[in-house]
Amino acid sequence: MENAKPPFSEWIQDHVFSATELENYLACPYRFWAQHYLAIKPQNQWTIEISPMERGILLHRVLEKVLQVSSASLENLQSKAFSFLEHELSSLKTQYPTLSPFLLSRQNESLKRTLKNFLTLFLEEKEKRQSLLPKYFEWSFGHQTPALEIKNLHGEKILFKGRIDRIDIDPVQKTFLIIDYKTSGGTTGSQILAGHSFQLPLYILAVKKLLLPDYEPIGALYYNLASLEQKDGLLHTDRLPDFIDLHPSSSTLVPPAMWDRFFEETEVKIAEIISQIRQGDFPSEKEPCQDYCPYQEICQLRSSL
Ligand code: SF4
Repeated sequence: MENAKPPFSEWIQDHVFSATELENYLACPYRFWAQHYLAIKPQNQWTIEISPMERGILLHRVLEKVLQVSSASLENLQSKAFSFLEHELSSLKTQYPTLSPFLLSRQNESLKRTLKNFLTLFLEEKEKRQSLLPKYFEWSFGHQTPALEIKNLHGEKILFKGRIDRIDIDPVQKTFLIIDYKTSGGTTGSQILAGHSFQLPLYILAVKKLLLPDYEPIGALYYNLASLEQKDGLLHTDRLPDFIDLHPSSSTLVPPAMWDRFFEETEVKIAEIISQIRQGDFPSEKEPCQDYCPYQEICQLRSSL
């Protein structure tokens, strides 16, 4: 028989948080409750084609495997990427027999185009990168590995987990750059600095504290796989590598005088939010919620808005 779930007040005390959970709580506490405490999985949306989320997962898997191959030509990398992709797609076909062969073949072509464009740019960039190169792929913390620890004002520990798509390091300059792949837009620097998104700041803290304590962060960037843009995120102005081309007024660029203060304030802000969650502070939304939410069909709040 399955073990009964502990009461929320017990469950939350030992809970290891993720950035997504924090952001879900800020967006809608009920969604946090349903998704992370009750662990209700939204109804499977699989019908006849691969969902945008699964498309992103597929690309992550392929890139994780292919970028570990060093010094290969574009043709070589591309052929490895396409063969990993075929392998992943055939597993999906077995798992989801309702997928339309016609739509799947079109999605396959589109995924191949995305991969080809990514790999072409990756190799062009490699020429300009000097010693800053990809080193870690899908590095995780807090998943049977040490978690990132933050303390609140009372000295109580808050633990975090996460998985980072890619970490590039420069062993000469002793710096690191975090890359997070997206299939749509990421959060802008001004949204991160305003405290609306915690993913990249938590990743930077985790790598600095747990993986590369002797290295300094260049920062973290969202890499949009569809547009190949690398413009959103958080980068230390004085450590910016030449191949990253950003307008000087971009909100992604954080001046040195703000950098340390931002991380100190972020830790305090995160601790405040966790303390609200631990106290069971679950205010219902005052404003109409977002248009799409996977929990809308079971949501009592939405029906009362
Ligand atoms: S439908 Fe709206 S109120 Fe309900 S869980 Fe989703 S975001 Fe929250």
